Amino acid sequence: MKAPLPPQLRVFVRDWLSSNNILLKSAAGHVLIDTGYVRHAPLMLALLASRQGLDGDGLARIVNTHCHSDHMGGNAAVARAYGCRIAVPEGEAPLIERWDTKALWLDYTGQTAERFAVDDVIVPGSTHVWGDLEWRALAAPGHDMSAVVFHNAEHRILISGDALWENGYGLIMPRGVDPAALPATRATLDMLSKLDVAVVIPGHGEPFTDVAAALERAYGRTTAFEVDEMRVVRHALKVLLTFTLLDRQRMPLAELPGFVDHVPIFRDFNARYFRLPPDALAQRLVGELERAHALRRDGSDLVPG
Ligand SMILES: [Zn+2]
Repeated sequence: MKAPLPPQLRVFVRDWLSSNNILLKSAAGHVLIDTGYVRHAPLMLALLASRQGLDGDGLARIVNTHCHSDHMGGNAAVARAYGCRIAVPEGEAPLIERWDTKALWLDYTGQTAERFAVDDVIVPGSTHVWGDLEWRALAAPGHDMSAVVFHNAEHRILISGDALWENGYGLIMPRGVDPAALPATRATLDMLSKLDVAVVIPGHGEPFTDVAAALERAYGRTTAFEVDEMRVVRHALKVLLTFTLLDRQRMPLAELPGFVDHVPIFRDFNARYFRLPPDALAQRLVGELERAHALRRDGSDLVPG
């Protein structure tokens, strides 16, 4: 079913390397929620310049649901092009200000972004009028402990970032790394369940209306994660390797042991959970991702599935 959205709200559905971008247009100043991955910044700028985008208008503000590379990677380029302000969730601001590449999951996961300056913070519980619609910012910790979602009660719209997708949510840290992440994920689902929502605009994938089914799947995943910490661990590493492959497009299979031995999160998780030689961990991840059709071999290279 096509999601009923007000005409001043435009959703640019991207892929898994770049988050969706949401443009909220009004005479008070247009607002863009999330800007995609840094490598896709030229495409972000082209979308904004298009007729479906700003169509020659200016941009007043960028807002981020959270500060992972696939959501804020285009911030610097868009701010440079439009001279707009940038607002991030309150809890993310110190990380951006000191460019904490571990907490922001940049160097830590083998990802990159262009550094930018924060102009304003989004405080959970605050309300904002963007695109002539009133949005309440709600804390949605779990995948990102400082993430926010935006709820419009009038049209029953939820902009969920990576806190809720049609099928799951963004990777979370295992208990041994961040004991708060999984309980926060469940608490966020409980919070979202109580909202009146007709349509969800997720951080990745098409907007969807069967919110109850999405919540049920998200709860099911959470329960499975609670039962078996290794599922959280394997899921996180598989998601991150898939992301790297989407970014690079191609990676010699022979480079993968070096990759899992050098990228800190792979090294940390291996030391803590697998204790395998790097080539054995690499082989295991590739095998699982091949079976899931998330990647395939092309000669001696790995390519996205
Ligand atoms: Zn994220």
